[in-house]
Formats: sequence, structure tokens, C-alpha cells
Amino acid sequence: MKLHTRLLLALVAGAALGVALHGQVEQPWLAWTTLNLLQPIGQIFLRLIFMVVVPMVFSALVIGVCELGRGRDLKGVAGRTLLYTLLMSAASVVIAVVLVNAIRPGERIDRAAVRAQAGSAKAIEASAEAATSVTQTIVELIPRNPLDAAVRALDGQMLQLMIFALIFGVAVSAASPGDKRRTVLIGLLEEIFDASMRIVHFVMKLAPFAVFAIILNTTLTFGAGVFAALLLYVLTVVIGLLLQQFLVYGAVLRVFAKRSPLEFFRNCREVYLYAFSTASSNATLPLSLEVAETKLCLPPQISRFALTVGSTANQNGTALFEGVTVLFLAQVYGLDLTTGQQVRVMLMSILAGVGTAGVPGGSLPMVLIVAQSVGIPAEGMGLILGVDRFLDMCRTAVNVSGDLVIAAVVSARSPAHHAATPVVEA
Ligand code: ASP
Repeated sequence: MKLHTRLLLALVAGAALGVALHGQVEQPWLAWTTLNLLQPIGQIFLRLIFMVVVPMVFSALVIGVCELGRGRDLKGVAGRTLLYTLLMSAASVVIAVVLVNAIRPGERIDRAAVRAQAGSAKAIEASAEAATSVTQTIVELIPRNPLDAAVRALDGQMLQLMIFALIFGVAVSAASPGDKRRTVLIGLLEEIFDASMRIVHFVMKLAPFAVFAIILNTTLTFGAGVFAALLLYVLTVVIGLLLQQFLVYGAVLRVFAKRSPLEFFRNCREVYLYAFSTASSNATLPLSLEVAETKLCLPPQISRFALTVGSTANQNGTALFEGVTVLFLAQVYGLDLTTGQQVRVMLMSILAGVGTAGVPGGSLPMVLIVAQSVGIPAEGMGLILGVDRFLDMCRTAVNVSGDLVIAAVVSARSPAHHAATPVVEA
């Protein structure tokens, strides 16, 4: 049975049992099971994912930035790819914040029960109160000691670690391309990243048990009310992704690439379907490259660069999903995020999109980190894991679509552009 099928089954089984037993939550045997079985199983799973976060984030960001810096021969292409990546990710995160604040999917849950379950209401409130001003938040983005930031990454210093990795990546990419030491360093970082992903892959095999335990624990405490909110949460993500695809990408294509969005989207249909079914940007890359050259008539030297980098570095759908998810969980836990904290979530979601691997579930560790940075307990992830595969399929299609849009825009604005028959609208 496929992993996503097992996850869905675990979700449904855990939820059904939890709702059925909700009324008996005070019974001693049930309290014992929750404390000694359900909670530890969930915790072990989450800790296993946490374990790889620091090495993964650092290696992924340094490699990603190096890839962006590598295209010196394409003069300016790397810069524009980065610029559009950041702009479109920013647009997606703004959509996320606006939608979550308008729809408020997390407010249907019994907050008192959630806090009781987290067992750390005071800690949550304290971290919400400890929020600093926007200026101070920006100053503190620059770490004084990157090792210290790495050590405390899971206690709110992750963004600082990411900033260091970005600057470090720029510095590494400034070395001459043939430099042996640079090649060795990048090779090492690539292996660190690959090994981290293998660990995530292995841990995901335990996910059905963890999802069952976490969802059972959650529904025991909340009752059935949690699902109304979950449905609204899924809808919020899907509406956001549709807006990003048709409004943002459509406008960018028309204004900056002078292309007909509908014709462009029609030409990319296969790529979307493939991305949707594999839930992996990396797995979709070969098909995107082919469609970019044959159907969209983009110059290969530009599309290859933009699409390859984009399959790892440009993940607008993921950034949107992360923004919605973290703000949704904040609502579930009754955390009133300050403007500074919301800005922090937005910035982290953009960077986390850049640092997310283009594989199924690649963004889950990042969501944990962004959520934790504003004081949301890790258990909150249990709420969304069961529906994650479906959302993963949707956001991956938008991620890959964004890569193709960037390739088209960078091509249109590059002097090297010599596409044979571009689909230009009159
Ligand atoms: N599955 C996504 C991708 O490959 C990454 C994620 O959001 O988990 O683009």
C-alpha cells in the first residue's frame, strides 16, 4: 500500500476512534494510554524529523545559493532568477497571510482543550509576549555566532542560521569555478543533504503510526470539532494556490513575459499533472525541461538554468502552504501573533521555500521550524499530517508552474533570448 494511502487510513482510523472515545477522556485507562503511549509515539516521530533539520537547512541553502551563483556566464540570469523567485514567493506568502486572517480556519477548535493538551499554555503565552519590535527582529536576523544559532536553531534561531547559510553560499560561489577546495566543499554539503533526506525518507515510513497516535490523541481531546477546521484549512490552502497560479503567475506572464497566460498554462498541462501525481519538483524536472524547450520555445541555456535551480530553490506553493499552516496552527492554539511575529513567519516561509527539497513531504521539517519559532508546540503538526499528501500534490504543481513562469520571464527579458516561435499575444 502506498504511503499516502496508509497516512490517510491512519488519519481516518485515529480520528474515528478519538471521536468515539472523546466522552471517556477522563477514564484512568485512557489517560494512561494517552500519556504513556500516544504522546511518546508522536514525540519520537517528531524528534526524528527535527534531528536532521539543522544539517539539512544549512546544506540545502548553501548548495542552492551556489547553484544560483554558478551561472555567471549567463550574466544576470542568476540575479533575475533569484529576484523573481523572491518576488513570487513574497506574493504567495502575502496571499497566505491575507487568506488566513480573512477565513480564520483555526478558530473553530476548542482552544482551552488544545492548550490543555499542549500542556504548555504558559510557555506559549510567554513566547507570544516575548515578541520584540519589528526593528529589533530585523537586527537580530544577523547572527553574532552562527554556531550558537545552529545550536539554538530549534529554539527560535533558525532564521539566523538560514541568513548565515545564504551569506556563506554567496561567498562560496564567489570562488573560481574550477577551485578544487570549493568542489570538495560542495560535494560534502551535497552528501550531507542527501543523507539527511534519506533519514527523512526512512522516518516517513513510521509516519502512519505517528499520525494514528497524534490524531487519536488530538481527537480524544478536541472531539469532532477539529475536522470542521481542518476542512476550512485545506480549502484555505487550495484557494491560495489557485490565486497564486492564476492571478500572480497569470499577471507575471502577461506583464513581464508578454505571453498569453491561458496558452502558457495549456502548454504546461502535462507538467502540472506529473507534478501533482509525483508530489516532487525534482522528479518533474526532466519533463519541465522538455516542455520548456519544445512547447514553450524557451532558449535552452536559460530554461535549463532557471528550471534546475528552481526545482530546489523556487517553491512558491510550498511557501504559501507554510504561511497558511503556521498561521492556522497559531489560531488553533489561540496565539495572537504580533505584526513582528507575522512578518517573521512570512520571511521564514519565503526562506523555507528556498531551502525545501523538491521531494514529497520535503517541507514538513520546515513547517515545524517556522511553527516553533513563534511558540507553536510541535504536536500541532499532528493536525495537518493526515491531509498533507493531498496538499503536497497541489503545492508541488504550483511550485513547478512557478519555475516555468520564471524561466519564461527571465528568457523574455534576457538579451540572449532567441526563442524560435514564442507564444506572444498580440
Ligand atoms: N513536495 C514539494 C515539492 O517537491 C515540496 C514540499 O512542499 O513538501 O515541490
